[in-house]
Amino acid sequence: MNTIAAISTPNALGGIAVIRISGDNAINVADKVFRSVSGKKAADMAGYTCAYGTAYDGGERLDDCILTVFRAPHSYTGEDTAEISCHGGLYVTKRILRTLLKNGAETAQAGEFTKRAFINGKLDLTQAEAVMDIISAKGQRELKMAENLREGAAFKKAKEVSGMLIKALADLAAWADYPEEDIPEVDPDTLLKELRASYNMLNQLVMNYDSGRILREGVATAIVGRPNVGKSTLFNCLSGCERSIVTDIAGTTRDVVEETVKLGDVVLRLSDTAGIRDTDDVIEEIGVGIAQKKIDESELVIAVFDGSCPLTEDDLILINKIKNKKCIAVVNKSDVEITLENKIINQYFKQIVYLSAKENTGVEQLTAAVEDEFRLNEINFDTTVAANERQKSCIDSALECIQNAISALENGEFLDAVTVLIDEAEQYLLELTGEKVTDAVVDEVFSRFCVGK
Ligand code: GDP
Ligand code: MG
Repeated sequence: MNTIAAISTPNALGGIAVIRISGDNAINVADKVFRSVSGKKAADMAGYTCAYGTAYDGGERLDDCILTVFRAPHSYTGEDTAEISCHGGLYVTKRILRTLLKNGAETAQAGEFTKRAFINGKLDLTQAEAVMDIISAKGQRELKMAENLREGAAFKKAKEVSGMLIKALADLAAWADYPEEDIPEVDPDTLLKELRASYNMLNQLVMNYDSGRILREGVATAIVGRPNVGKSTLFNCLSGCERSIVTDIAGTTRDVVEETVKLGDVVLRLSDTAGIRDTDDVIEEIGVGIAQKKIDESELVIAVFDGSCPLTEDDLILINKIKNKKCIAVVNKSDVEITLENKIINQYFKQIVYLSAKENTGVEQLTAAVEDEFRLNEINFDTTVAANERQKSCIDSALECIQNAISALENGEFLDAVTVLIDEAEQYLLELTGEKVTDAVVDEVFSRFCVGK
């Protein structure tokens, strides 16, 4: 393959930066730019060895560097690879990269190193996708899930199911193709059992998909309530900064203010909204309209009530608007005497948290309620879960085919029909692992990567 190069470390100042070169000519290109102190050529270096030296652009000295050599197939990409570690300055790294490009390397596209690792069979497509998930993991559980995938857990499971399907296909084919031979008739009950086992095994990969997605993407969350209950104060308390204007004038927040915050292991994409109430103020009314839209779009609603006074008509209007949503009730202002009747709140909400947004107390209870709402504590993140929509859609399609094959068998349909369905399921599994996938899908997967990975 042609030789590509890119800066693999962030485009920012740092102690050290790494520039990666990979391809048939990688070692040669490195030799044109790097001169070791010992005089040893990169071409004479064994894999997994380093040399100390200097990068030059022709006669011009650029920087002190360490060169590391990897020999095919024992490298990340599976190709000959050289990595130059230099000082992490913006100019010096770009200058060394430019010199490498001048000496025969081509600019690497986003994700091209990992794409080559995939093409060279170092990784299947689910493992390649996991590389980017590891890079973007924001917490322990998310990292754990990505690492499982990177180690090939989804790939192995897909291969196991695939093995079962192929065996079923082989039995069906042998029986259909050689009826005169003494091949035992395919027993529908045994086949059913095998298909059900395949279904259950594959289903494990998508069962906890939503929890995984929540860890990765966060939960769209609307903070709602009538004016003056302390929504903006709660929003500021959770986001740790004064983003939203707090006053005791009802109707202050008219627009939606948004912030991403982490509560325990859950990332919330918080929106502070205008207080919901009947209003004659035209601008405020627009805000109320937007708040309603936010409620509709959100996956979680934090409904705030003022604990220091009885429920009002506006509180009840709000309760009515959110009754079909996943909700946590927050009874705010617990630093003053609580006079709110909790009977009504208890009647409408499963999760009720008493806190003081102003004093910043009770946030742990809110965190626990959020984790509980998404059942994150019940999920074992050591188990493998599909990591993205692409994987999920391949698995769902395979599951559908297996389910249809099961129904066909149960209804006593011809085994030919069953064979077609099992074969189709198998094709979706090959798409999942990338063994049989279009270039467009592969390009799409790697386009989401960063340059240098
Ligand atoms: P919003 O209209 O729901 O956004 O309410 P704000 O956050 O603007 O707060 C309205 C008023 O309630 C302000 O005067 C806040 O200082 C006050 N407030 C908010 N949270 C608390 C709290 O936990 N305790 C007390 N005592 N007052 C609060
Ligand atoms: Mg407000």
